[in-house]
Amino acid sequence: MKYCYDIGSLSGLEPATIETIQDMATKLFTTQTEDLPGYIKELIDIVGVQMRNLKERQIFIAAIAVYFDAAFKHLCSVRKLRNSELYSFLKVVNHLPVLPSSAYYTQTLDILSKYFREDRQAVKLFDQLQMLHLFIEFGYYEGAQELQLKLQDQIQHAHPHFITLYQYCRFRHLNSSENLNQRMDLVLQTISNTFHQEGKESTIFMLFHWLSSLNWIKHSKLYMAVLYNLFEAIKGEHSLNSALLAYEIFELDSRLVSPEAKMELYNYLISYPASMLNSRQLRALHFFAGTYNGSRMESFRDSINSYKSSNYYLNKCWERMINVSKYIRTHCDASTFKTSVAYLEKSILQLSHYASMRNNCFVENLQASFDQIEQLSLQMSELSLTDSLTGLRNRRFQEINLPQLAAFAARHKTPVCFAMMDIDFFKTVNDIHSHAAGDAVLKQLGEMMRKEFRKSDIIIRYGGEEFLIVLFDSELQNAIKILDAFRRKIASYSFIYEDQLIQITVSIGISAEYFDNNLADRQIGDFIGHSDIAMYAAKASGRNSIRSYLAPAENPA
Ligand code: GH3
Ligand code: MG
Ligand code: MG
Repeated sequence: MKYCYDIGSLSGLEPATIETIQDMATKLFTTQTEDLPGYIKELIDIVGVQMRNLKERQIFIAAIAVYFDAAFKHLCSVRKLRNSELYSFLKVVNHLPVLPSSAYYTQTLDILSKYFREDRQAVKLFDQLQMLHLFIEFGYYEGAQELQLKLQDQIQHAHPHFITLYQYCRFRHLNSSENLNQRMDLVLQTISNTFHQEGKESTIFMLFHWLSSLNWIKHSKLYMAVLYNLFEAIKGEHSLNSALLAYEIFELDSRLVSPEAKMELYNYLISYPASMLNSRQLRALHFFAGTYNGSRMESFRDSINSYKSSNYYLNKCWERMINVSKYIRTHCDASTFKTSVAYLEKSILQLSHYASMRNNCFVENLQASFDQIEQLSLQMSELSLTDSLTGLRNRRFQEINLPQLAAFAARHKTPVCFAMMDIDFFKTVNDIHSHAAGDAVLKQLGEMMRKEFRKSDIIIRYGGEEFLIVLFDSELQNAIKILDAFRRKIASYSFIYEDQLIQITVSIGISAEYFDNNLADRQIGDFIGHSDIAMYAAKASGRNSIRSYLAPAENPA
């Protein structure tokens, strides 16, 4: 991911134009207070011309991007001069209204009491400013407008922090009732004052919020690029600005910021103290991580943790809604309360939509993971019943599945043939051709057997070079015919290992049996024993042959 963008070349503007805009941006901070009105007028004239020319919107956006990028660059290059108290105060802004349940409550009281101890008027004014902030958050702009006008006179004599907060609220909803000149005048004055009185951090804060209030630029790649440039410059600070900036980038459309880049921002942001961001922002972050990780099996556990965290902050959001409602009730007259509650309800509805969407998302992830686990477990059980060298069934399969099949054969009174097959002089194969060659022979023999027998027959690797074949519903004579043909096929087959041809023969013992109901379980071992006895008879008769089991009565020995 490329973080540092050359806004000039991205903007597509003429180099001379770019330079002029960059100079204008820097001048905002270098112009003396008495020359500011002249500067503001100049800028308003330029912007005014552009604003009227709607066809050239893209050029206007490009110019704004160049302006802000240059302004941020200039601010970042300024040496930090003093510790700004305003900057600590601004931390509170992201948590307004600060209620007794908020993590910032004590801190805010501390900050406020520093300046306004015993000052009832100031505390009242702060409450009004909180209300103004809330109305803007809910989109209750008429209420905000009314309150703003009401506060206009009082605020002139208030503490500078309050003036900043008031201006900040105003330019968060730069509304159409104010004309362009008034709006720009307000913002530029505020930013210039903040710069001269409070230094660069608070100025970056204000400038960034001004930029982010311009909704029509937010879908442009240039907006993302300007934010990234600033983020790159200040991310090491781990400050309020870097947190808010990272969150703003995180919230951008996924066409501008990829999910992977969002996860990087998530990891960056969770390294902050949790109280830096508000509950809504934290909930959104954890929800995103939960969904992102949920789709990846290897990080499913992380997804569960994120789900828990987002649940926690969701709860905090509900709690905040309730407290906000109480707050409005105690700080507003009845009619304002009535109107603003409608907006609050809208937010509550949004939150509940959000909650159900998140739950659906998580349940879908769970379902997908469950399916995957089920599939894996099927594969696992299949593997645990399979011999890894030959791909044939193993002794475990015999122990688990044969009793059921035997009971089935007993119930249907069908014959079952057991054939024990052992490779002749296999030790010699190993000795002459190597153990690896012996393995290759076993593997190829396994393949041959799987092709040779019916799907319903069971072929088990019984021992190292011994195989048990169980043929259901097969008469002895038929089984002998099939197995003898297979014996001959093996004897004439050349197994291959590297460049060596290897011949083997096998001896086979066979027994045809009927299971008895109730006894089937115990009979399996006996019947396998019978085929083993027959196999030894085949060995004794000179190997490479097949013998059937003769019951003791039939066996003259
Ligand atoms: P016979 O059965 O004809 O009496 O002679 P044999 O040499 O086959 O019998 P024995 O039981 O003496 O030896 C079996 C040999 O099979 C010994 C062992 O090294 C070999 N064997 C068993 N399992 C494997 C295996 O997985 N890989 C290889 N390469 N050899 C194996
Ligand atoms: Mg053998
Ligand atoms: Mg053997």
